[in-house]
Amino acid sequence: MAYSAKGGNYIINPGDAIIDMIPMLSGETDIIEINRSFFLEENITSDTKMTEPLKVIGNIVNMSGYMKLSLNVEMKYKALCARCLLPLDEVIVLNFVKTAAVAKSLENEETDEVITEYALIEENKLNLADIAEEQLYLEFPSRHLCSQDCRGLCQKCGHDLNESDCGCSLTEPDPRLEVLRSLLKDTDNKSETQSKTHKTHKTEDEETGNVCTDKLIN
Ligand SMILES: [Zn+2]
Ligand SMILES: [Zn+2]
Repeated sequence: MAYSAKGGNYIINPGDAIIDMIPMLSGETDIIEINRSFFLEENITSDTKMTEPLKVIGNIVNMSGYMKLSLNVEMKYKALCARCLLPLDEVIVLNFVKTAAVAKSLENEETDEVITEYALIEENKLNLADIAEEQLYLEFPSRHLCSQDCRGLCQKCGHDLNESDCGCSLTEPDPRLEVLRSLLKDTDNKSETQSKTHKTHKTEDEETGNVCTDKLIN
């Protein structure tokens, strides 16, 4: 159910993401405005798919001593609900600031630190695709849900439990869940002081049998 990871149909012009830094490095200008759009070469995760070029807006300002890069990145993409596999239209918007620095001047610093704290200028160029992609990896949701209380699919028959109950899980309990249940009962016996609401909630989970359907997407 995964989308192809490589941007098969994307029109990628590498130049769209490249900022020429020579005007600032030579002292000709103190501000470079940025307003670009481009696809990344790969989707951020294998089960999501960009639907439009990224919008990258911001500027680079020479602060006399260092260069400040401020960016707003917007990406529209398709994802699947991690529980019921419903296709979702999503958008992620990031705002962040980095120090732009010439790669050569940072040669003595620790590599990991350089990557996360600086936007590197290499051969007088800043690659916005690399910078946006790195930030997206950091802040991308680990999973998507159609709603917080999505009930997912039945693990036995695949029925969408948001539509109705299928009854499977009640008549034929999964043996692996039985082990879990006996463990939970042990825990209950040991902690008599446990609150009543907590116990009620646990019983509901048992009835639906809707445990860990998140694994389905993998
Ligand atoms: Zn769902
Ligand atoms: Zn079922």
